[in-house]
This record gives sequence, structure tokens and C-alpha cells, in this order.
Amino acid sequence: MKILLTQFGNETNSFAVGKTTFETLVPKGWVKAEDVIRQFKGTATYLGGALRAIEEEGAEPLPVDLATRGGNFGAGPMMSKECASYVMDHITEDVKKHMGDFDGVFFAVHGAGCSEEDLDLERYSFKRMRAVIGDIPMVSSLDAHANLSQDMLNLSDGLYGIKTVPHIDCEEAGYRAAKTLIRHIRGEVNPKMYLKKIPLLIPATTGRTVSGPGKAIMEFAAACVKKYNLIDATFFFGFSAADCPCSSCSVLAVADGYVPKKEAEEIAAFVWQRRYEFSEPSLSVREAMDVALSKVKDGYVVINEASDNPGGGAPGDGTHLLREMIKRNIPGTIMGPLTDRVAVKYLFDNHKVGDVVDIEVGGKTDATGGEPMRLHNAEIINFSNGKLISAAPINFGAPMDYGNTVRLRQGNVELIIVSDRFQTYDDRPFIMTGCDMSQYKILGLKSMNHFRGYFGSRADAIVTADPPGQCPINLKLYQYKNIERPILPLDEVNSI
Ligand SMILES: [Zn+2]
Repeated sequence: MKILLTQFGNETNSFAVGKTTFETLVPKGWVKAEDVIRQFKGTATYLGGALRAIEEEGAEPLPVDLATRGGNFGAGPMMSKECASYVMDHITEDVKKHMGDFDGVFFAVHGAGCSEEDLDLERYSFKRMRAVIGDIPMVSSLDAHANLSQDMLNLSDGLYGIKTVPHIDCEEAGYRAAKTLIRHIRGEVNPKMYLKKIPLLIPATTGRTVSGPGKAIMEFAAACVKKYNLIDATFFFGFSAADCPCSSCSVLAVADGYVPKKEAEEIAAFVWQRRYEFSEPSLSVREAMDVALSKVKDGYVVINEASDNPGGGAPGDGTHLLREMIKRNIPGTIMGPLTDRVAVKYLFDNHKVGDVVDIEVGGKTDATGGEPMRLHNAEIINFSNGKLISAAPINFGAPMDYGNTVRLRQGNVELIIVSDRFQTYDDRPFIMTGCDMSQYKILGLKSMNHFRGYFGSRADAIVTADPPGQCPINLKLYQYKNIERPILPLDEVNSI
């Protein structure tokens, strides 16, 4: 038995400036079919999990080219029509060449993609794939922030979401999807799905499963899987920055031989009881710094500038937190990575380690994130090529590439500037420029949740800063046009 493997997706922030093109989606281009197994076998990624299941079942993997970064998904503004059609043209051309040579398809997608072509990017991708493969069984793994649609279900033979935020079970979702696919092809199971949409938007900052309502819901869903002997059940937080008709949280249950409507509705009712618990205080950068300073013990306190999270589609070049850090000039402060390809290129082309420079950094994409920050007499501490192996649970062991990188110091504050836009998952972007993490007290970074998988057990405390940006805690700041109303917390909704 042969299972075809591919991946394409994006978490779309409809309110972010600009467009997602193929070049911004995957700055390093395609992962070529011949490199897939070597790069992803044994990694904590969707593909790593699918490869494990395929091997365990004695099947054979048949990879085609992938549009992925580090095995996971990027986030960014609305995807251009050209990007969506170019990627699916390329993938389906590859698939056509292999027709007759495989028995099933594993297609890792994100679930919260929007493109100019179709506000439901996954519906578009699945349609394109179906047009080639016909009724060959196809399954997908999905991110916990997926905005599911009934169309996605209708085009798929099985959707298997991750359960955790920060995402530490991508491998398991890939494994579950591929394993069930193989058993389905053999006729050992007959998976049927039921989707229950819930009229509730959850800010990405507050949808976590390490504590609070997210944790309780995850545990309740897992108990239902056991109690009703389901193949799978997932609570999807949805992605509230994607403005499309299917944006909301939801529950998807998968059962063997019957449609698990009652089971999905039971989990959804549990979610609905907790609908008001997904709220969090919104701290300015000044307030966040004050709280952070009060919590420093032996190590460092992390301040996450959540509203400028590249993982949520924000530009990652906002300067609000950096400006406050430079103003305070507290010994042992470091911030990074801030994305500024232009500044990095200038420093690489014109300077060497030890040079002292005046340069503007950040603030180049969107005024919401703050003006460019002018550094005076900043010393270049080190350069790096930006390549690292991830140490974070979300993509442990996978190669990542931030592009050329510079570490600067102005006064007591150090800053990491990178060329390619990624959120901060772990301390590797700091270490790759030679940082000794034990010398810092305050560590600023740009992420909402995924950094918690690594820093949660290492930081003295974590404090979320919510300055103006494209991933705000307060969802009423977004000008929604396409989502289905009424929906909480924008409208009153009394029942589901
Ligand atoms: Zn996610």
C-alpha cells in the first residue's frame, strides 16, 4: 500500500496589511519530494507522525513537493489568488504523475486559511485535489485554530485536529490521520464525521490548553472519546483574525460506522457553558514591564508582545515593546526576533562585529505596530545565518531558518533582528547569535502561545503585553465583514 503525502496551508489574518505570496508563505521555496522523508522522519511534525503510522502499518510513503516551513504552517495576510492557484497547480501536477500508484492521500492543512480565490482556502485545496484523485480516500491533519466548514467535511474522508495550544501534539494528529486512513483503506474501520459549529470567537491569546477553560474542554473531549469509543473528537478554538463565514470555534467528532452527532453536541454544550471564561486583561507595554520586573527571581521573565505575533499573521516588526525597553534601559534586557530584512541586509553589507551604528529598525509594515525605532550608538554583537534546529515542542527537531540575523546592543538592551518572519518558539534564535541565556532578566518576544511550550517551565514568569497591533486581545477592535453573525463576544447569543 502506498500513501501520498503533501502539505499546504496558512493561518490567515484578514486584518494584516499586504498579501501572502508564495515567497512570503515559504521563503525557502518548495520542500522537494526527495527530501521529505529525510527532513521529517522522526520529527514532532504532522508529517513525522504520518510517516510513523505508514511505517508501522507496513505501507510505503510517496511524498510530493510540500509548501511548508519547518513542517508547520506560517501565518500572514490574505493569500493572493496567484499563490493559492500556483501551489495547488504544482501539487496536483505532481499527484497526476503518480495516479494509479497510490491508495490514499495524507494532506496536512492548517484549517484557517483564506485566499482571494476562496475565503475557505481548505475547501479550495480539497476541491483541487479531489478533481485529480476522484474518490481515493484522503485525510488531513488540522491545527487547533482551524475554522472548519461543512464543505471541508464533505470533501474529506477524515479530519484529525491537534488538541493542544501551544501545539505539542502535531505528530500525534498526523499519526492518527494516517493510521485511520490505512485502516479505512483495508476496510477495518469506516470513519464518519460530525461538525458542530459554536457561535463564539476566542481571542488567540486566551485559547490555551495548559490551564483554564481550554484545559477543561480538552479533558472533557478526551473523556468522551473514551466513554463513547470514538475514533477522535477535537475542540477547535478557531482563528478569530480570519474574517470568513466559517470563522468560529467548533467541535468535530469521528466515529466508526455512524455519525456521532450526539457526542459532538455534548462536547459543544460543555464549551458553551464556559463561553465567558475566555477573557484576559489587556496590559500596555508599560504595565507589562512593571509586572515583569516585580516577578524576576533567579532567571528571566518573558514578556510576550502578543498583538504583534507573526504566528497570528502580524508583521513582527512592531516597536512598542522595544521602545519601552530602550526607554527603561534595565540591565539584562533582550528582545527578539524582530523582523526587518532591510536593516539586516544593510548591516550585513556594510558592517562587521564591533561596529557602532545608528540605524532605524522595525515599524516598516503597518503604523499600528509603532513607528520605526531609531537606535543610536548601537554595537553589533554578532551575526548569524539564522539556521537552527527547533527545541520547542511544536516542531522539535525540525530545521528552521530565520535568514540572516544580527544581534545589536544599545545601552543595556540587546536586540535580535532577523530577515524572515517567524514567531519565537524557543531560545534558539537568541542562542544562534551566541547569547548566554543565564545573563538575562527580561526577555521580550513576539508570540501568543507557542513560546509557552518551551518557556513555560523555564521562565520565572510570563507576562502578556497587548499594545496596538494586528492580533489584539479585544476582538471588537477588528472590523469584521464576512463572519456569520450573531456571534459572541460581538453580539448577544443565547443558545447554540
Ligand atoms: Zn494554531
